[in-house]
Amino acid sequence: MSRLVETRLVNGPFDDPGLLLDLRFGRRAVLFDLGDIAALSPREIGRLTHVFVSHRHMDHFAGFDRLLRLHLHRPGVLSLVGPPGFVEGVAARLGSYSWNLLDEGSVDLVIHAADFEAGRLGPATAFAARRAFRPAPIPPGAAPLPPRRSTLPLGLVLDDPDFTVEAVTLDHGLPCLAFALQERLRVNVWPEGLERLGLPVGPWLTEAKRAIRSGTGDDHAVTPLPGRSVSLGVLKAEALRVAPGQRVAYVVDAACTPANEAAILALAKGADHLFIEAAFLDEDREIAAERRHLTAQQAGSLARRADAKRLTVLHHSPRYLDRPDALRREAEAAFADT
Ligand SMILES: [Zn+2]
Ligand SMILES: [Zn+2]
Repeated sequence: MSRLVETRLVNGPFDDPGLLLDLRFGRRAVLFDLGDIAALSPREIGRLTHVFVSHRHMDHFAGFDRLLRLHLHRPGVLSLVGPPGFVEGVAARLGSYSWNLLDEGSVDLVIHAADFEAGRLGPATAFAARRAFRPAPIPPGAAPLPPRRSTLPLGLVLDDPDFTVEAVTLDHGLPCLAFALQERLRVNVWPEGLERLGLPVGPWLTEAKRAIRSGTGDDHAVTPLPGRSVSLGVLKAEALRVAPGQRVAYVVDAACTPANEAAILALAKGADHLFIEAAFLDEDREIAAERRHLTAQQAGSLARRADAKRLTVLHHSPRYLDRPDALRREAEAAFADT
């Protein structure tokens, strides 16, 4: 059964970190971190609706220009979230170009940017192409980002019918965000059951699954065939298997402090897949502490303590290029507790 969300690292472990989360049925995608994104196709970048940036070190934010360039001719809203000061950073990047050719007749692209601070998503600022990207506060009620702090619950940066995205703030010498995408429910099709009900496979199934994921009641009916309707309750009893949705966590650039450990463990708890930085070998633990990064051993141990089902390490320091597997091996050993 195909997943709602397919994940893929943008680059190899020695290159800029970034995780593409491809939402297979929504024809859109979400990105964690915005470093070098040259490895993503223009089509993939064009499908991005939300980009969550951990912090504004270059290796996590230098891809802004490519993102902007590929969205410049596409109408729609592109939502960006980052740590405190992020909106200012976006304004500075947009402000560094000349936009004299943009006017009311230009493509209707709007960038919404917001800071995540003290556990909450702040008010969004809109940068509209038709206003030559001059910043404007978003009027109340103009979704998709909430205009006021109170709109989204603590810790959430995106509340979508199919999934949520959570954030926590870590200490990396500056605030650095870690993220987790949580599918609401996973709905799998049981072909034998479908056959017993005499129902065909088709696009109606996608709609039925979406309705179940978003909490629609069992008596809601869908129409697989003209003149034939069936309730979600019957489908759930006979042909669809409903299970908890997958959780994907992404953690980069964090010092190994007790507060960071607690925040990472809470975010990655029971994750189906944890993507986490392994910047240094544990023999270089002191350098890691100085640079406010995790070692591979610390990353693997966090994954084990969080009960993550799967671990992928990334963001290796180039000092280990001559032994490219050493960091992964050290992390995997700690994950397996050998
Ligand atoms: Zn950094
Ligand atoms: Zn980094």
